[in-house]
Amino acid sequence: GLNAGAEDFLTKPVERAELSTRVRNLLRLKALADALQQHSSDLEEQVRARTVELQRFRSAMDATADAIWLINRRTMRIVEVNGTASKMLGYSREEFLQLGPLELGSASLAQLKGVYDTIIAGHSTSELMEVDIRCKDGSLLPVEIRRHSERSGDDWLIVGVLRDITDRRAVEQRLHYLAHYDALTSLPNRTLLYETLRSTLAQAEASGWAVFVLFIDLDHFKNVNDTLGHAMGDELLVQVGNRLVNCLRVRDVVGRLGGDEFALILILEDNDPGGAALVAEKIRTVMAEPFDLNGRTLNVTASIGITVHPDDASDTETLIKYADTAMYRAKQAGRDTFRFFTAQMNTELLARRDLETALDEAIEREEFVLYYQPKVRSRSGRIAGAEALLRWERPGHGLVSPQDFIPVLEETGRIVNVGRWVIAAACKQIAEWIRSGIGPLQVSVNVSSRQFIERDLDVDVLSALRESGIPGRLLELELTEATLMANTLRTIESLQRLKQSGVKVSIDDFGTGYSSLAYLRKFPIDKLKIDIAFVRHIADSPDDAAIVLSIIRMAHSLKLSAVAEGVETAAQLAYLRHYGCDFIQGFYFSRPVPAPEFEKMFNEGRRLPAGDEEAQGRQQTLLLLDTEPDDLASLRSLFKNEGYRVVAADSYAQGLELLALHDAQVIVADQGAGAMNGVAFLDRAKELYPDSLRIMLSAHSARPAFEDAVNRAEVYRYYGKPWDESGLREGVREAFGRHSRLRTASE
Ligand code: C2E
Ligand code: MG
Ligand code: MG
Repeated sequence: GLNAGAEDFLTKPVERAELSTRVRNLLRLKALADALQQHSSDLEEQVRARTVELQRFRSAMDATADAIWLINRRTMRIVEVNGTASKMLGYSREEFLQLGPLELGSASLAQLKGVYDTIIAGHSTSELMEVDIRCKDGSLLPVEIRRHSERSGDDWLIVGVLRDITDRRAVEQRLHYLAHYDALTSLPNRTLLYETLRSTLAQAEASGWAVFVLFIDLDHFKNVNDTLGHAMGDELLVQVGNRLVNCLRVRDVVGRLGGDEFALILILEDNDPGGAALVAEKIRTVMAEPFDLNGRTLNVTASIGITVHPDDASDTETLIKYADTAMYRAKQAGRDTFRFFTAQMNTELLARRDLETALDEAIEREEFVLYYQPKVRSRSGRIAGAEALLRWERPGHGLVSPQDFIPVLEETGRIVNVGRWVIAAACKQIAEWIRSGIGPLQVSVNVSSRQFIERDLDVDVLSALRESGIPGRLLELELTEATLMANTLRTIESLQRLKQSGVKVSIDDFGTGYSSLAYLRKFPIDKLKIDIAFVRHIADSPDDAAIVLSIIRMAHSLKLSAVAEGVETAAQLAYLRHYGCDFIQGFYFSRPVPAPEFEKMFNEGRRLPAGDEEAQGRQQTLLLLDTEPDDLASLRSLFKNEGYRVVAADSYAQGLELLALHDAQVIVADQGAGAMNGVAFLDRAKELYPDSLRIMLSAHSARPAFEDAVNRAEVYRYYGKPWDESGLREGVREAFGRHSRLRTASE
């Protein structure tokens, strides 16, 4: 503390005793000197003896580390000093005797007399003070001074004991500096900023100025620290600090609040937000220059929140808090911008705090539930699985929709915990449905990117699978493209590990993100979910219809299945079925519902009503695929008059496209030369349309070589090339017969 030295001085008994000895000696010295002067006519021997005594005392006094002087109260002159005083202040003894406390210090005569009178009145009481004494060379020396009063005839002598406190002052100043300045950037720190703002506000109130506070936070600073290391992060902060200083006008102050947060105090003559906006823009401009961090170029932006005194708030703490709130809004608005605080933000801020606190307790209080929205296989119209969607039964607020709380969970990182709960709850439900006889249903859950970044998602998923004892293939993860791209390497690895346990992966909201398919290929994906925005207008916007069709084709050519979400009307459904979309999800079939309702729907065998498309689908359609144009032509003529709708493709890709467009119950495909295109095609057709019947033609007699492949594709019939015309025609007829029997049976 500041006065540790002073306290020592006052309380240490030894020092105190020593001091009074010194003072007493000095007084005797004075008396001796006086006596010598007055009685110069005394005997020589007496003079000699007294001079020796005088010198003894003087050297004892001179050996003390403190300066001592005696002041005549009436004349205000120094009447005696010790040698240390000369060493300390630079005056000779003779010079001292010409001086008084008024010449050496900065106190006025009245002040000094006041001090002296108090001391005299209290007799032995002495007061400790810190003063600056003017030295002979003109410099000021900080000393701690302690005074005593001593009677001297009918007057008083004031004894001053002075201790040089230069070192202590230096330490104190250093401590003060450390307490008020940021060691990294040398800018004022939080404490000094608050102090400065406090005094600025007081001044502003008197003068009618407006004081603006700009809260500046670097965007994505954590990334710099994480990827380049803390030393580089520090270097960046220093450079940012320097640039901010360059944005200042004389009266302004900038400081560092901590971390990557800076604050600027602007004093403007009038309350003109335009002036503050100009400064904010200037900050953005100076920040826009790339930073050079030891040879590495880095682009940095900042988000800025602005408040003004006296309009927004009158006290320091509130102003800074509001500026922070406004800054947060700038972040939300996409960063690299600034926002002024508004009263509404405050209400929102409070509501938001409440929301966050309530969310923290939601898991423990079991306020979260999963709703299930059926996914329907578009060909059969039957429920094929469900998407689990999070709902929050917030006490006093009813059922809260994900849009109102999932973004908060995401922003604050709470989604990681909640997401883990969702996965576990969905797995438990799947297990429950198996146990209760509903059967193995595939359930998808939505996964946020933070679950990959902040935790090992695969570990969480695998442990949920283990605990519930369900096979991985019943769990599907829905990820957005942004999630995939956010942390590519780690995500790929994580997904691959999950893939090994059979877990399925689908891309949610497909079409709204990067849509770089070349890129998507790198990920082990099973499904594309077409974003609701395209589905919404599929029936009335040819553009959206074209997008949906091409997404479905892309999906199929990548061997992925396509799911449409947000299907609300029969027309949308008809289009999607026509385009060969494999799964349908949306209000048209069902809204997301609680598990018991979902079970009821499933048990009742609810399915999509047969629309026009379905009737058309019932027309017997035969898909022919042969890469030999001549063979394809002969096949066409072979089935010309059979009453089937015949569609023909001369390539694998075209075949898939036709398959998506037409509901072909029977497929005849050439095995193809070398590349096994036909087998792969049939394999794919089986995956997409499991109830189609597949017939393979082959020019090779080495049948066993393909047995495995044929089995995989579950080929219904196999014919050699050239084929026996009536045999093949009969085989196709039987296939249609079998298909319609199977279909009736399943209805
Ligand atoms: P999403 O994954 O794209 O989910 C589909 C959303 O569309 C759901 O909204 C669903 O109720 C809604 N929907 C379904 N059919 C229709 C329809 O026919 N018409 C319209 N207009 N909407 C339909 P919901 O349940 O409000 O969820 C919104 C988003 O919240 C989800 O979008 C998903 O991104 C997120 N979400 C939901 N649950 C979770 C979760 O457990 N974890 C994570 N990370 N996100 C979740
Ligand atoms: Mg989803
Ligand atoms: Mg979606």
